Amino acid sequence: MSGGIKINFAARSVPVKDILIVFCDEKLNFGQDARKTLGDATALIKKAAAADRFTGKTGASLVLPFPAAPKVARLIVIGVGKAADLKEYDCLKLGGQACGLLPRGAKEATILADLPMGAMTADQAGLLALGATLRSYTFDRYKTKIGKIKPGTDKADIDEDKPVTTTLTLAVADLPAAKKRWADHQSIGEGVVMARDLVNEPPNILFPEEFARRAATLRKAGVTIDILDVKAMRKLGMNALLAVGQGSERESRMVVMRWNGGKAGSPPVAFVGKGVCFDTGGISIKPASGMEDMRGDMAGAACVVGLMHALASRKAKVNAVGAIGLVENMPDGKAYRPGDILTSMSGQTIEVINTDAEGRVVLSDVLWYVGKKYKPAFMVNLATLTGAILVALGNEYAGMFSNNDQLSERLSEAGLATHERVWRMPLGPEYDKLIDSKFADVKNTGGRNAGSITAAQFLQRFVPDKTPWAHLDIAGTGMGSPQTEISKSWASGFGVRLLDRLVRNHYER
Ligand code: MN
Ligand code: ZN
Repeated sequence: MSGGIKINFAARSVPVKDILIVFCDEKLNFGQDARKTLGDATALIKKAAAADRFTGKTGASLVLPFPAAPKVARLIVIGVGKAADLKEYDCLKLGGQACGLLPRGAKEATILADLPMGAMTADQAGLLALGATLRSYTFDRYKTKIGKIKPGTDKADIDEDKPVTTTLTLAVADLPAAKKRWADHQSIGEGVVMARDLVNEPPNILFPEEFARRAATLRKAGVTIDILDVKAMRKLGMNALLAVGQGSERESRMVVMRWNGGKAGSPPVAFVGKGVCFDTGGISIKPASGMEDMRGDMAGAACVVGLMHALASRKAKVNAVGAIGLVENMPDGKAYRPGDILTSMSGQTIEVINTDAEGRVVLSDVLWYVGKKYKPAFMVNLATLTGAILVALGNEYAGMFSNNDQLSERLSEAGLATHERVWRMPLGPEYDKLIDSKFADVKNTGGRNAGSITAAQFLQRFVPDKTPWAHLDIAGTGMGSPQTEISKSWASGFGVRLLDRLVRNHYER
């Protein structure tokens, strides 16, 4: 089992043990603290760098076991390229990279948080720590043995030792400031980890009721939790959401999370998540290949839970509502069918064309409920909604659809800063026509062309009273994520950092 890392902050004069990590620029210049600690070793490092063709470029590193001085077991030099150009995501990546270079079983390591032109800021140091934390995440709770196969046998060389937690100490210039800033980053990191865990969990363990129970743990952070069961939702008229879940042995749930850190009575910001705990496609069943990935079809809901944790834990000065629709989409004698006509909570009728286009059906009721009940300043919904968004944008950007230019611009800007990027896609009446139904008000698919857009058009019909709204299609970014310096996880936890930043930049009093 992995032991993970424990973050610790210390003054720059802290004695270094075991492993030392320092940064240099592309001219092999070190910061003041590094120069002091390395002393005469600098010349040796330059020699080793030449032999290794290490130039201090971004992403490059040099590892020296048992350097003559300082007296550490291992010295790790990480290149930052042009130090003056370091952006937020670069700092996250540096932290991730540092963590990745730690040998297995290391007990202690120290990072000198300084650069050639001066000490890192408290924010930069916090980002390093967050990057290392996110990198160290593994989802191995279902592995009973972890080890390498011994060469020549089929036996695993199992590490019987207790898992080792590495204490990673960041030596910083302004200790109180760094600790204070870290508290915020740590809250966000916990939120990301929470979202990743939920997405990575298998569907036999994480079904709607269990998901709701886990969301309810946010009570500890001061979040108000309401769990609506089938009876409560039926009373509200949420027949669209309930239709999707009716083929499952597992009952559907809706969870509403509220964090009131803002002015009493000021309208909340609202986040809505698709939580299809498993999506078989229902009667319009999916092909077998890759169906196991549909355990991640609740990544939108997972993000909302992680985000609410982050906001509450860092005591964000905002009123926020998070609402998630939790269902399982199964084929069954009781399942909803293509051809069914559902009366949604809004009163609009939905003709089901394809039961695999279920996410939008679930969200139709949750968006309507949140919009009407809370009259939010804006609503952002997240959903692993369409495969078509992967065709358009791959795994790098989430698709963004919005009725509001200001909200879109703010999301784009927060996306660039956090590197959880969004790309705005069009909406329009011409696309809206494609989902007009012959027998009902709207049908749940608009055909193959513009599949992500017609899905967004469908959602827009359930946004009440012209509420500023954005839909993020995270089918490409919320699961099956590419490996990065800050994520080796199947589930990236996409959206937590993005939306936390949106709130922090514009909606806290
Ligand atoms: Mn589906
Ligand atoms: Zn789905």
